[in-house]
Amino acid sequence: MELTVQQPCPTCGAEILLQEDDRLVQCEYCDVHNYMVHRKLPRFLLPARLPSHVSRESLFYVPYLRFKGTIFYCQKNKVHNKIIDTTRIGFSMRKMPVSLGLRPQAMNVRQVTGDVEGHFVRQTIKARAIFTDAAKLSILFAKDKKNPVVHRAFIGETVSRVYLPLYVYHGNLYDGVNHSKLGPSSLIDSFAATTVRVSPEWEPSFLSTICPGCGATMKGSRDSLVMTCTNCETLWQEREGIFHQLDFGVVESSTQAAVHLPFWHIEPEVRGCTLATLADFLELTNQPVVVRKAHRDKKMAFIVPAFKVNPNTFLNSAKNLTSVQLVFNGMTQKTVAGSYPVTLPHKEAVQALKVVLAGAAVSPKKVFAVLEKLDFRVTAQQLLYLPFQWVGHDVRQEQTGFSFSSASLRFGRSM
Ligand SMILES: [Zn+2]
Ligand SMILES: [Zn+2]
Repeated sequence: MELTVQQPCPTCGAEILLQEDDRLVQCEYCDVHNYMVHRKLPRFLLPARLPSHVSRESLFYVPYLRFKGTIFYCQKNKVHNKIIDTTRIGFSMRKMPVSLGLRPQAMNVRQVTGDVEGHFVRQTIKARAIFTDAAKLSILFAKDKKNPVVHRAFIGETVSRVYLPLYVYHGNLYDGVNHSKLGPSSLIDSFAATTVRVSPEWEPSFLSTICPGCGATMKGSRDSLVMTCTNCETLWQEREGIFHQLDFGVVESSTQAAVHLPFWHIEPEVRGCTLATLADFLELTNQPVVVRKAHRDKKMAFIVPAFKVNPNTFLNSAKNLTSVQLVFNGMTQKTVAGSYPVTLPHKEAVQALKVVLAGAAVSPKKVFAVLEKLDFRVTAQQLLYLPFQWVGHDVRQEQTGFSFSSASLRFGRSM
């Protein structure tokens, strides 16, 4: 479930409510649109409701790491998945809750901004260790010693830090949200000397939504990672605080009723097996198709959803559309109005390539035998917009007939 975040408008200061994955901040007071960029991990506070005898300046903030996403893992010639949505404490301390439970979802959290007073406890447990614990990976994977996990990937991930406020009163330490007594005030001795104050780089920064190419205003939905300029027909993606132009292609629809869904079209250079052409892919994964010259002439490219969607649909779309990609020709470079937003970053799609290859294997032995030593290097990438039609409760790809339940799109949007 997504968090709701209170964020001051970077232009006028008015309080705006955002969803955790929102990028485009639209202020209803000053009507200015800004694109939000996190330089580091996003940081949120659970809001403290303090009794009058406690000052904000005296608060201690204890860090919890929040993970949300899907872990795919390859074991015993199968690709499995597990959805993770949890918080775990980042500091080892007696009497503290290990997880924040449902509290971050049940209340609006606040973006950490430069004016927050109080003392921030340093995270001392490594994120990787917290994640492994959170996913109960050790249990999950230890169960089956005979069949080791040959690959794992965490896709669609959101990682953030959520702080729980604590305060001391009359010799006791209290939870600043629900005011439960955690123990004697001596509990703070383990961290009080090493706390830090808020740092400006914890705050998100904001980019103007003016097109760097032509100066027109770019458009995007609230959670889109890619901004569109319909004036000069360009797409833009933020990287290291700057908008960079993005290569894209649109497969046109024969009807008006289509919605165009975005996919990452990724050309890799693969070491550890022969995967230079589409024919190599079809043969390695034993697809039930007759390999033709056209397959041999087609440079290998993976087609992976560029939107968050439920894990099975993600994998099915990628393996099906990758296999049948010869039908996608006649592309245009004209932006399409109302296309579905890009919500899955390119780098996560790249992390999914091994999983897609493993998932596509009809007789998996051959692929699983080489999976561990495969190395993918991306040589070219672009966004590919494919037309889909709504058919009952499904969305169906126009050229291939491949379809999936529209509910899995809704699931992905709230994931
Ligand atoms: Zn404003
Ligand atoms: Zn433009």
